[in-house]
Amino acid sequence: MKILVLNAGSSSQKSCLYELSGETLPEESPPPLWEAKVDWSHHQGFAEFEVKTHRGAQWVEKVKKSDRAQVIAQMLDSLWSGSTQVIAGPESVDIVGHRVVHGGQDYRESTIVTEEVKSAIAQLAPFAPVHNPANLEGIEAIEKVLGNVTQVAVFDTAFHAHLPLAAAVYPVPYEWFEQGIRRYGFHGISHEYCAQRAARLLQKDLQSLRLITCHLGNGCSLAAIANGRSIATTMGFTPLEGLMMGSRCGSIDPSILIHLMRHHRYTPDRLDEVLNKESGLQGVSGVSADMRGIREAIAQGNQRAQLAFDIYIHRLQSAIASLLPSLGGLDALVFTAGVGENSPEVRDRACAGLGFLGVQLDAQTNQNSPKNCEISTPDSAVRVLVIHTEEDWAIAKACWQLK
Ligand code: ADP
Repeated sequence: MKILVLNAGSSSQKSCLYELSGETLPEESPPPLWEAKVDWSHHQGFAEFEVKTHRGAQWVEKVKKSDRAQVIAQMLDSLWSGSTQVIAGPESVDIVGHRVVHGGQDYRESTIVTEEVKSAIAQLAPFAPVHNPANLEGIEAIEKVLGNVTQVAVFDTAFHAHLPLAAAVYPVPYEWFEQGIRRYGFHGISHEYCAQRAARLLQKDLQSLRLITCHLGNGCSLAAIANGRSIATTMGFTPLEGLMMGSRCGSIDPSILIHLMRHHRYTPDRLDEVLNKESGLQGVSGVSADMRGIREAIAQGNQRAQLAFDIYIHRLQSAIASLLPSLGGLDALVFTAGVGENSPEVRDRACAGLGFLGVQLDAQTNQNSPKNCEISTPDSAVRVLVIHTEEDWAIAKACWQLK
């Protein structure tokens, strides 16, 4: 079975093609036959295509940017023509899976795309104004190019859909909750995948584990997982709540916004821009939204980069600690995504504050680019793991299960 996965970003489009044969899913992800990334954030008016295949063929080109539908059409073309061809034609694709950011209150599982599902994704656009329209464009672009192939929506909110009400409802007038203003949580595909991978690594039943998964990428969130389900998470109504992130602020006192609107003439659009793109590591350091840039600046003695790093750690530790009571203890702490997988300093500093829980890192293993392994000492009371998140593979698995 050939499974095409689409993952839409605000100014990027990623995709990959898996081939699965046999009756059972492999435990490990097979290498995709074909992978594509198109990015239009660097050069205005141009989209940069980067396509590679499992056989080592590559196509890299900068193309005049049109709309997402055309970008997707051109990207798919490289599946069946040119140097990166891996299949005979569009009819060779059996099923298509999409990462859909917002599934609202109703979509608690991956689901086959129907007209009803499409209109639900459209209706949820005000809650995810960048991503849901992009996801819908992706679904429609596939309809145009591949006809009526089965498509599956895999929601980033679904894993958190069973949050207890106390963890989901904001302490504001109850009518707001009835209007859909509640905590949804995001990065669910990654949190769920990492929880399952952690259980396998620990050779334990996921149902028996109390986990905190730390997804630390450009966006950052934590999930507290018990009985295989998310019972608390740090992102809320939107992916802006919770931890300090690359360029997003995370949780701040809402009165700051009222103050800025009243006294500094901030409009909603400007606030949106500042809180999402000019805050976080970027805003405090003035240097970079990328943890690598922050570490480099710290090495050169930059005080504001140091402050940004210290706030990031302070908030990460506080958030980890805030999830402990709802779990009633902790069996394993999992680090994943760009920063979680690649920054030994972040893992070291985050765990240093958790010594009172009996968390002990093995300093050497933590330094040695760990991947899908344990980085705590044998006598650590909490096991600490680094897991490579594979959202695309998780989406492909959801497609396989629904086919
Ligand atoms: P996204 O949240 O967009 O999916 P990723 O999970 O790929 O992003 O994370 C991207 C971030 O990972 C980068 O902005 C950077 O801060 C961080 N990162 C990547 N490599 C490293 C590294 N070697 N050391 C520290 N941080 C890294």
